[in-house]
Amino acid sequence: MPKTSEIDVASIRADFPILAQKVHGRPLVYFDNAATTQKPRVVIEALREYYEEYNSNVHRGLHALAEKATERYEAAREVVARFIGAPGPGSIIFVRNTTEAINLVAYTWARKTLRPGDEILLTPMEHHSNLVPWQLAARATGARLRFVDLLPDGQIDWNSFLRLLGPRTRLVAVTHISNVLGTINPIRAMAQVSHQQGAAILVDAAQSVPHLPVNVSELDCDFLAFSGHKMLGPTGIGVLYAKEEILESMEPFLSGGEMIGEVTLESATWRELPWKFEAGTPNIAGAIALARACQYLEDLGRENVWQHGLRLATYALKRLQEVEGVHVYGPGPGTPRGALVSFTMEGIHPHDISTVLDQDGIAIRAGHHCAEPLHRWLGVPATARASFYLYNSEAEVDQLIASLQRAREYFGHVLG
Ligand code: PMP
Repeated sequence: MPKTSEIDVASIRADFPILAQKVHGRPLVYFDNAATTQKPRVVIEALREYYEEYNSNVHRGLHALAEKATERYEAAREVVARFIGAPGPGSIIFVRNTTEAINLVAYTWARKTLRPGDEILLTPMEHHSNLVPWQLAARATGARLRFVDLLPDGQIDWNSFLRLLGPRTRLVAVTHISNVLGTINPIRAMAQVSHQQGAAILVDAAQSVPHLPVNVSELDCDFLAFSGHKMLGPTGIGVLYAKEEILESMEPFLSGGEMIGEVTLESATWRELPWKFEAGTPNIAGAIALARACQYLEDLGRENVWQHGLRLATYALKRLQEVEGVHVYGPGPGTPRGALVSFTMEGIHPHDISTVLDQDGIAIRAGHHCAEPLHRWLGVPATARASFYLYNSEAEVDQLIASLQRAREYFGHVLG
């Protein structure tokens, strides 16, 4: 596909077979991209090709199929490394998803590094995946969790961050883009001051790598985690990036086949990076298809994808203000935000909003979006969330608004 300066939604949609369907008799409007994205034909084709043409295990076979599978799997690692600006493939560990990537760090690096009284600095906007692993690591080591204050619009209070960051801070673990508020956190600046204090920084990039042109070398983060399924790739494949010198110092997470150098009955040595962290047969097809997804995004232009998402979020934010009784969370107009909007409507539970929209063929998400503490901070048990991607259009946002207006009229009528 040629590089274009703008996202051409109509031609992109033709690449996504699933989007052609009707739901409850209406054309599907898929606005649940922060949960998972749809897959273009080239990604589905990469999976089919692997299973139909060269399915084989990697690294150990000496036959043609094994060699092809190994070559494609390792080439995929190089594509992913380039995609996020990593210095080389040795710093790319294939895992299942963001959750597993964060757990890998929490079970190895954190348990070895943290001492009683050490501190892990988090924010209240973290997804449970970037909170619960640290609760367990803190419990296991005697370390303590601390939380940066948020400003009323859901951005980090920088003064609070600087106040809490101290000599006891060993790790700052923060989301790049909030999956509820859309807040974009200033990772580069956070990395800089964290390093000055001798703390490492881990970035939950589940919502940023799919949308923003992320460059780990520029961000200077120590760890970065993301999931393939939120960026057009298949489920079951994700990535942990970490600086090689840190990975070298870490013990393996899982152990067994593939990750060993030499094994005796009593002991074993580890393979070099990155394979030391990839025990057992990996998700070969998943990694190859993820690389295809990266190429698809690069062909469209990462900046174009980002601008398109930002434009849709800004438009949705503006149009939502027109619906009576709607309250939108996160940074207001004029502040860059991720490609999503979370909102509530007076007198209608978010689950009911979602059910009503579904009748119009519109898929959104309702609930706490795996960020329960954040919803406690917001003072609501749940929100409704519309999240966008490159195949969505402003016309679809208009449909969302029309459907919300109907929901308001219906519930207003029923509730009297
Ligand atoms: N962090 C954030 C910010 C997310 O949005 C998600 C997915 N909703 C995750 C982590 C977890 O991703 P996964 O379920 O793919 O591990």
